[in-house]
Amino acid sequence: MTDTMKAAVFRGREDIRLEERPIPRCGPTEAIVKVTLTTICGTDVHIWREEYPVKPGRIVGHEPVGVIHELGEAVTGYEVGERVLVGAITPCGTCFFCQSHNESQCSGYDDRWEMVGGWRLGNSIDGVQAEYFRVPYAQANLAKIPDDLSDEQCLMLADIASTGISAAETADVQIGQSVAVFAQGPIGLCATAGARLRGASLIIAVDSIHQRLELSKAMGASEVIDFTEEDPVAAIKRLTEGRGVDVAIEALGTQQTFQACLDATRPGGIVSSLGVYGGKLELPVESLVYGIGDKRILTTLCPGGKERMRKLMELVRNGRFDPSPLITHDFTLDQIEDAYDLFGNQREGVVKVALRVDGAAPRAHAAGAASRAAT
Ligand SMILES: [Zn+2]
Ligand SMILES: [Zn+2]
Repeated sequence: MTDTMKAAVFRGREDIRLEERPIPRCGPTEAIVKVTLTTICGTDVHIWREEYPVKPGRIVGHEPVGVIHELGEAVTGYEVGERVLVGAITPCGTCFFCQSHNESQCSGYDDRWEMVGGWRLGNSIDGVQAEYFRVPYAQANLAKIPDDLSDEQCLMLADIASTGISAAETADVQIGQSVAVFAQGPIGLCATAGARLRGASLIIAVDSIHQRLELSKAMGASEVIDFTEEDPVAAIKRLTEGRGVDVAIEALGTQQTFQACLDATRPGGIVSSLGVYGGKLELPVESLVYGIGDKRILTTLCPGGKERMRKLMELVRNGRFDPSPLITHDFTLDQIEDAYDLFGNQREGVVKVALRVDGAAPRAHAAGAASRAAT
């Protein structure tokens, strides 16, 4: 058996390429997973464009489905060969942050705090767009996949579904409340699904891409607003008797959408922010009602860990949530550069790509979910 593997490595601006790297070694509390299916995240595109810093030479990717290849001696209750899902965020379960219920900000066994400590894969350690990867704190992060779930059904759960759904959870959306979701990219679509799962009544999806607005209806939107056709804040006010929504979810990360969320939220409402913002984010006093509107702004980073992954898999398994329409394109790991080019430039109506690592042939490319469903 060879001791090297293929891996997608960040080398510089718009330069993520396949390289031959050693298969990682397993420490006592770790596991090595052989990847079968992974995907590219919007965050990986920020890395690809040098908008988010990672070290050149870093293997990228943080959304893995695979099979246990090797287990550290301290990891119990698992067997080599079991199918597992590992979340994008890998909390240790024991540090200050994990014990304070801020698992996403986990600082690890050694309590070494880095910015967003819990996001390690493809960030502070090597990631999963590779044939194998090392799972830190494996006991807390290997989520066994039930036999009746396919790899494809689990792929979106590692990051975008966990993140998207968390926006509604963080805002504590109540049965019958109204929710607006600004931007219907992969995470926004999952936020729309999250609002439905939490029992919202009126769910308003805002975007400009027709295909995404159609998908948002499948995810649970009751109203869709094309912001190029009408002012979304005015439309939301019209749909809520002039009050604004109880909860507005920001799923893009721009000043414009952040401000629109504040403006579209009723007095006493909540802006639940998922976006990653670049540069300066301003808080206009009018949008905040001069500080007396009792509006709250909450942010959430993707919840990880095996119990979070288990819960999400149970949602899919019981028919409460189906993320599979989000996968619009298929590639093999060998086609990684083409995959970044297509996803990074948002061509062919791409929502999410599947990257097949186990050597399986890719499916025919389809121009979006609608045509994919027809094939
Ligand atoms: Zn991600
Ligand atoms: Zn921790």
